[in-house]
Amino acid sequence: MTYTKEQIIQEVKENNVEFLLLEFTDMYGDTKNVELPAEELEMVLANEAMFDSSSISGFSDIQESDMYLVPDLDTFLLLPSLVDEDRSARFICDIYKPDGTPFEGDPRYILKRAMKEAEDMGYTVNVGPEPEFFLFKLDKDGYPIREMNDRGGYFDASPKDKGDKVRRDIVRTLKKFGFEMEASHHEVAMGQHEINFRFDNMLKTADNIQTFKNVVKDIATNHDYHATFMPKPIAGENGSGMHAHLSLFKDGDSAFYDEDAKDGVSKTMKQFIAGILHHARAIAAITNPNVNSYKRLVPGYEAPVSIAWSHSNRSCMVRVPTTRGQGTRFEVRNPDPTANPYLTLAVLIQAGLEGIRNEYDAGEAESRNLYEVEDDSVPTLPTNLKEALSALKKDEVLLKALGDHTANAYIEDKEDEWTQYSLQVSKWEIDKYMNK
Ligand code: GLN
Ligand code: MG
Ligand code: MG
Ligand code: MG
Repeated sequence: MTYTKEQIIQEVKENNVEFLLLEFTDMYGDTKNVELPAEELEMVLANEAMFDSSSISGFSDIQESDMYLVPDLDTFLLLPSLVDEDRSARFICDIYKPDGTPFEGDPRYILKRAMKEAEDMGYTVNVGPEPEFFLFKLDKDGYPIREMNDRGGYFDASPKDKGDKVRRDIVRTLKKFGFEMEASHHEVAMGQHEINFRFDNMLKTADNIQTFKNVVKDIATNHDYHATFMPKPIAGENGSGMHAHLSLFKDGDSAFYDEDAKDGVSKTMKQFIAGILHHARAIAAITNPNVNSYKRLVPGYEAPVSIAWSHSNRSCMVRVPTTRGQGTRFEVRNPDPTANPYLTLAVLIQAGLEGIRNEYDAGEAESRNLYEVEDDSVPTLPTNLKEALSALKKDEVLLKALGDHTANAYIEDKEDEWTQYSLQVSKWEIDKYMNK
């Protein structure tokens, strides 16, 4: 939807909206919000909503902590499930500094900057995400326990699938939110589920991912479950990914489709893929942002380990589905749903554009099952967060994509996270070494 200020004022009045939620995303990808009474609408629409950003991750350690929340009018949404009771509406906001310029650490700004670079080259990019998640049971106090909601597997039907009602409720709610919903199903692991929604431009998709995750969590709670997007909650089972399908357009036509090419794939697409593969190890620091992310990227669980591309092989980081014509696209398989979607899409596009600018060569599509290739002829994704951060620190293109502010804050915080983790002694170590 696109809205004018006048339309919003009208909607707020007609629907007796009581509260305005101003949302934004921190560096870690968590949605943050502040709530204002609807009487403040004019002030909000005049871009005068100020907040103290000093305690927001990735926003702090700047001279000036006073920032402004500038609502993106097109993200205005009456929260339908709450219409009768709380009558609230939300805006997703951009963050501005007191001098009236965008805050360079705002993930949404970082994505917009990447989109602008694509536009300057004549491209628009569409993205379709495939977020996966687990449903866990709750204890009597409402805290999650380590027991999945069912014993179902891939595409299982009810009653093995005990997530169908939750998923339907999620789909129903998102439709009311204006989402165009696609397939949903039980995933491979017990208690694991997937719900897809239609591709859109990068900014809209990143916003949608945030809204999606919040709705999934809320609805799961209503059904007495805990939804987690943690990448690998159970050792020995599939983890949760968030594959991203990317397509590129120039003058309204697919820049990825070439009807004269043997495989129907354009040179531009191969260069774009090559850019992503070239920067893959640094990209992982953003798309696979935590310690647990790397427990998913291991052989045998449909998650990628190899920095390679393929037409069918799920062990590769990039896969090209068979659709051709306007739907010609590739799927990046390593991102997981804990990644900040704004930063994720920003680094993917910046790496891809770099591939086009430098005419990188993606080589031949990989046809082997790389889970089974034991030599080191194919480079691999980082095996842990520390390796990924080391790659990021050396990658000029990625550092520039993030900008100094976020790159520095991210690397510092994530290195600290790694240090905290490495100081832990796990149950596995106790079991393994106690008798030494
Ligand atoms: N869960 C798998 C992953 O970690 C993907 C499985 C699938 O969608 N086929 O990426
Ligand atoms: Mg899928
Ligand atoms: Mg899936
Ligand atoms: Mg997929």
